[in-house]
Amino acid sequence: AKAAQGCTWCFYDEQVSRSARSLADQEGELRRALRRGELELHYQPRLCLESGRIVGLEALVRWLHPERGLLGPDAFIPMAEESGLIVPLGYWVIARALRDLQSLHEGGADSLHMAINLSFRQFQDSQLLPTLNRLIEERGIDPHWLEFELTETAVMRRSEQVQSAMHALGELGVRFSLDDFGTGFSSFVHLSSLPITLLKIDKSFVAGMAVRPGKSQLVQAMVGLAHNLDLDVVAEGVETTEQLELLRQFGAQQVQGYLVSQPLPLAELLHFMSAERLA
Ligand code: C2E
Ligand code: CA
Ligand code: CA
Ligand code: CA
Repeated sequence: AKAAQGCTWCFYDEQVSRSARSLADQEGELRRALRRGELELHYQPRLCLESGRIVGLEALVRWLHPERGLLGPDAFIPMAEESGLIVPLGYWVIARALRDLQSLHEGGADSLHMAINLSFRQFQDSQLLPTLNRLIEERGIDPHWLEFELTETAVMRRSEQVQSAMHALGELGVRFSLDDFGTGFSSFVHLSSLPITLLKIDKSFVAGMAVRPGKSQLVQAMVGLAHNLDLDVVAEGVETTEQLELLRQFGAQQVQGYLVSQPLPLAELLHFMSAERLA
């Protein structure tokens, strides 16, 4: 039954409980999806501008939903972060990415890096280090092939926990990159105290680079800044050869984007990589 006429509180209440219920539903659904194996990873290649070779991959999660089809992370990662499900989901991502990296390395692509996105919440989990150690051991992967991407916003929370986990992982040989650079507010003093070696220029800065000089200048300044901090640069969202050429001129080390390849399922990635080798 509808709320009593004029009773805005009742109405409000009903709305709140309806949306709360649907959030709980969504959580349950994602939890089941994890159990049933409905999640997938797609891998986007990273091109090294100097060698012209694919030097790494970024793992990007998708949900093959039985009714709604293939869902991108924006449809469920925020909810997973909110609910804490990002922790088990994140372990699934790490385990799958390491499994696939092992098979890629064994298949001959033995100098590929794997970049994995990590949420702030995952750093707050005490099992992160032991789990990673176990998975690395299981897969026989040298940790220096692994890279974790952390957003600027996560890093700038200056959490003691994040900092010590980063240092501990850094000791293992794992690398860190600063994702979505330019969208948050970095303190360079804070940045230089963390074991970060790469800076990823957000695709919003790369978009329109060749057509708007102001944008190109901004990206050039960002690359210069990264180099002053002794960081390598990956530009994301590279869609045109003009953008790629400008980035090369500016001295960016790597690019990622539809120009090189979309994120691909493992089988298609293998195909892409073998075609790449023949080219
Ligand atoms: P991100 O880390 O900034 O990832 C880059 C996004 O840009 C990806 O979107 C990718 O598909 C898209 N992209 C790549 N090349 C191009 C291009 O040339 N043009 C344009 N317009 N877009 C491009 P996607 O896969 O939808 O991922 C969205 C975000 O979801 C990611 O942003 C990342 O923050 C998050 N995410 C993805 N997988 C995971 C995960 O396993 N764990 C966590 N915590 N977050 C994840
Ligand atoms: Ca990323
Ligand atoms: Ca990014
Ligand atoms: Ca992003």
